[in-house]
Amino acid sequence: MTATHTRRRATLAALLPAHEADAILVTGGVNVRYLTGLASSNAAVLVRADATATLATDSRYIGAARRVCAGIEVIEESDVAGALLPRSGRTGVEADHMSVAGYFRLGGDLPRLSKVVESVRMVKDDDELDLIRTACELTDRAFAEVLPELRPGLTEKEVARALERRMVDLGADGLAFDSIVASGPNGAIPHHSPSDRPLERGDLVTMDFGALYRGYHADMTRTVAIGEPAGWQRELYDLVRAAQRAGTLAALPGAALHEVDAAARGLIGQAGYGEFFKHGLGHGVGLQIHEEPFLSARRPENPPEPERSSRKPERDHGHARLEDRVPVTVEPGVYLPGRGGVRIEDTLVVRDGGPELLTRTTKELLVL
Ligand code: ZN
Ligand code: ZN
Repeated sequence: MTATHTRRRATLAALLPAHEADAILVTGGVNVRYLTGLASSNAAVLVRADATATLATDSRYIGAARRVCAGIEVIEESDVAGALLPRSGRTGVEADHMSVAGYFRLGGDLPRLSKVVESVRMVKDDDELDLIRTACELTDRAFAEVLPELRPGLTEKEVARALERRMVDLGADGLAFDSIVASGPNGAIPHHSPSDRPLERGDLVTMDFGALYRGYHADMTRTVAIGEPAGWQRELYDLVRAAQRAGTLAALPGAALHEVDAAARGLIGQAGYGEFFKHGLGHGVGLQIHEEPFLSARRPENPPEPERSSRKPERDHGHARLEDRVPVTVEPGVYLPGRGGVRIEDTLVVRDGGPELLTRTTKELLVL
């Protein structure tokens, strides 16, 4: 992966002049991992505009750092930010990843950069797309294997544990996030924690889960029916499915984020359920389960500007628009208080030739 990390640092370095910085002090743990390959709880990397870099970490990780970060200077120091700061000219810090106390320890007068590494991370390279693809395959396979076991009497917790066990048995390194299994009336709560409620005939059951694979995340939601669904349940399902399809078809390079959201939200609104779909349509997926870009109804504000910087980067890294090679979820839902809900979610990659679906489980209503 060394060549990959070198390329990522070069892409980042090329953005620095537009932010009027000679270097960036990267302290966000996920960002450090992205730029160097080192996963740790205490490391920072200084990337200069000439694309050279120095990494600092403490004694716990120094061995791994020397192994993983071939080709860049590595220093052992527990105050990782303090150790790197004097090693460059005008250095910007990551405002989103530094405490106020940490900022003032460094002098309190450094340019504060926002989401610069995140803007590079948003567009994935081939290595990353392969890992997200694998995470999604494991998620699909776990669902297919657990599906025949779903029956009335099984509790939400038991269903969640079955999905999670299966993903790990199939090769996942862990879970992408805390699984959601919401049955019957609990389906009205978008982020319901699995409870001891047993599945009952007549329930819709929403399952939102995903595998973690070598640091990369998958995210999928399916809603199934236990026994023949009532008319209102099938109608709700068909509506959410149509909205999910509309959102997916709108997820094209160049599309404004709020327009993708609107493609799905519009259908739900027209059907009279707008007030029951309160969350955003989707989010980026990568080294984090929720990352840039965020598909929501919010119209673009001015992208966050670094302090004291008037020039913008040449290329707008998509604070407001989708681009080729950006993985996102599309996950509309309708939640009816006291009755239940439906959410359908895929992880897909925005591509020039149209969306590449990564979670491939059927979206037909499964009646169990
Ligand atoms: Zn999800
Ligand atoms: Zn999601």
